[in-house]
Amino acid sequence: MAHHPTRVVVNLQAVRDNVRTLRVRLGPRTAIMAVVKANAYGHGDLAVARAALEAGATWCGVATLEEAIRLREGGIKASLLVMGYTPPAAVAEVLHYNVRITLFSLADAAAFARFAQASQKPIRAHIKLDTGMGRLGFLPTEAPAALEALRQQPGLVIEGAFTHLCCAESDPDFSRHQIAQFDVLTRHLGLPWRHACNSAGALSYPEGRFDMVRVGLVTYGLSPWGAQPPAEMMEGFRPALSLRTRIVSLKTLPDGAGVGYGARYRCAGERRIAVIPIGYGDGFRRAPTHFGEVLVRGQRAPVVGSVCMDQSMLDVTHIADVQVGDEVVVIGEQGFDCITAEEVAARLGTINYEVVTALSARPRREYVSL
Ligand SMILES: *Cc1c(COP(=O)(O)O)cnc(C)c1O
Repeated sequence: MAHHPTRVVVNLQAVRDNVRTLRVRLGPRTAIMAVVKANAYGHGDLAVARAALEAGATWCGVATLEEAIRLREGGIKASLLVMGYTPPAAVAEVLHYNVRITLFSLADAAAFARFAQASQKPIRAHIKLDTGMGRLGFLPTEAPAALEALRQQPGLVIEGAFTHLCCAESDPDFSRHQIAQFDVLTRHLGLPWRHACNSAGALSYPEGRFDMVRVGLVTYGLSPWGAQPPAEMMEGFRPALSLRTRIVSLKTLPDGAGVGYGARYRCAGERRIAVIPIGYGDGFRRAPTHFGEVLVRGQRAPVVGSVCMDQSMLDVTHIADVQVGDEVVVIGEQGFDCITAEEVAARLGTINYEVVTALSARPRREYVSL
């Protein structure tokens, strides 16, 4: 039984609605791969994968083989692509769990192929091309020879090729250049699955949709453009995640009293200080900057003193009628106010992707459909 007040509440109806909104924007022909790596960006991989598949996604994308195996063991039957590195030593699991791998090295490909031939079961793979990300993939100069060699390699079934946009939300010219380059390199191959677009790309570049898009962030209702998306771009998407806790202790401290480790905060006058059972052990970051403020009774309460591993303190002097047990919203809506992941990202000097993904495993995921 889970009674601890700190939890990540995930609205699976928002996930389903976001996938359906995407479907409308894409039209009927482009398949949707729900990207659920890193525990579905902190939202909980199995629940999100099931919701996205119910709403029309047909693939799930992950970063590691372990993540794919978690999905399979959890009963997910959809096609799974490991988009990152898979060690050839894990080839038996790749076959056993029927997972598609990404190939970007001829040496690894040969190692996979040897085992596949020996066991008489083909490895299904997508080839990664680097059109500008500078990360995984064959460069355009190497791509034609690599594609040819891998397609000839017995033991491998090359069912797709893909690339990744590095600046989909910020540089349309370069993104279109990447898409065109990918198209030229792969168009004549007759591969069933060509894919290039992440969330921002899928919404921005119809010519880059090919057979499938790989969408993470917008599935969760978060904006790849941060707090200022281009007009109407995020219409129909809403955040699925909120982070909630409760006040577990409330006290009045006198003028000059210290709060927390190092007594870094000192009360200026008598202050009402509330304690919430959330800290950096939950992903409620301590330094170099913390979340700054949270919602109590629909109003903003500043975090005071250093954030501890399991607890943090709020100044609620200015909020009327605060009680032990009051709900505290760290990310999400309360009353007429809302703290978005984008707002937190701006405070922490990062992006909304990291805000939600950095929530730790400790706060339980609670699923609702609203
Ligand atoms: C994470 C990832 C995605 C999803 O990106 P979003 O911006 O969250 O949609 C797509 N493709 C690859 C290769 C990725 O690593």
